[in-house]
Amino acid sequence: MEFLRPATWAEALAAKAGLPEAVPVQGGTDVMVEINFDVRRPPALLDLTRVGDLADWEVAADGRLRVGAGVTYARLIAELGDRLPGLAQAARTVGSPQIRNRGTVGGNLGAASPAGDSHPPLLATGAEIEVASAARGTRMIPATEFYRGVKRSALAPDELVRAFWAPPATGPQYFAKVGTRNAMVIAVCSFAVALHPGERRAGTGVGSAAPTPRRATAAEEFAAAELDWAGRAPLDPGLAARFGELAAAAAEPIDDVRGTAAYRRHAIAVLARRTLAWAWHDYRKEAAACA
Ligand SMILES: Cc1cc2nc3c(=O)[nH]c(=O)nc-3n(C[C@H](O)[C@H](O)[C@H](O)COP(=O)(O)OP(=O)(O)OC[C@H]3O[C@@H](n4cnc5c(N)ncnc54)[C@H](O)[C@@H]3O)c2cc1C
Repeated sequence: MEFLRPATWAEALAAKAGLPEAVPVQGGTDVMVEINFDVRRPPALLDLTRVGDLADWEVAADGRLRVGAGVTYARLIAELGDRLPGLAQAARTVGSPQIRNRGTVGGNLGAASPAGDSHPPLLATGAEIEVASAARGTRMIPATEFYRGVKRSALAPDELVRAFWAPPATGPQYFAKVGTRNAMVIAVCSFAVALHPGERRAGTGVGSAAPTPRRATAAEEFAAAELDWAGRAPLDPGLAARFGELAAAAAEPIDDVRGTAAYRRHAIAVLARRTLAWAWHDYRKEAAACA
């Protein structure tokens, strides 16, 4: 097995173009497990850890955060937790401290598992994925178009993920996950909500309950129309329950070793109701503090 170690982004793209079967390695927390268990034996590994700018994040000219594919979960929590609270909350549930010190959102995107924890908050916040190839340069893919099937994404064989772009939070954001235990667990299902008060809109993301992570668009439309954005009245339990039902209707789960389809549907309704209640509570508290 060849081991390619580009020092720059241009070299990384050239290496991927020259050998599209080369498997990129960021933190290695997925790739190394697959190799150890002989799930795959690629002809080459493309180590991206020397490509410095992948490990950086910045505030872009349009005000959004541009976070390199190599920024670890631990750094995301420590450095961006205030601006990307939903994603940071999801990051805190990933694996263990060791996994969070190595693992990245870039790797989560590369793996494109329906159970990946960063996907629901990326969907709820309207993130975009910056990808590039040597032949065609850079393109931006909205998170809603990135996930194409179980462990399949919109990435072409000669492309690499360079960064994701997300607006800093303008309202409360929450992520919740059900697992078979509290830590070191792949989600049975998960849900993210992000309130966008300026647009009077709630973004959503459903995880591990369909072939791909996806938004619950009917729940979003319902929340936009029915929530009392101006008055910020207490959340009506009936409204929260309906939001949960619509979120569950967006799921297309399967029975597997981690849970049944029926349980997942039920749990998505509960998580959606709960995360909306938490977010709405914070939204009202902010209003009270400003009054
Ligand atoms: C013990 C353990 C617990 C875990 N717990 C969780 C969990 O709770 N939640 C969760 O979501 N995941 C979990 N994972 C899975 C894994 O940690 C995450 O998916 C993590 O985000 C992968 O990031 P990485 O940088 O280590 O990726 P890598 O292993 O380096 O790569 C992952 C995939 O992405 C591709 N890739 C990497 N970088 C790029 C790039 N720049 N462009 C294109 N493709 C790229 C790789 O080729 C590979 O297919 C766990 C793994 C382990 C071993």
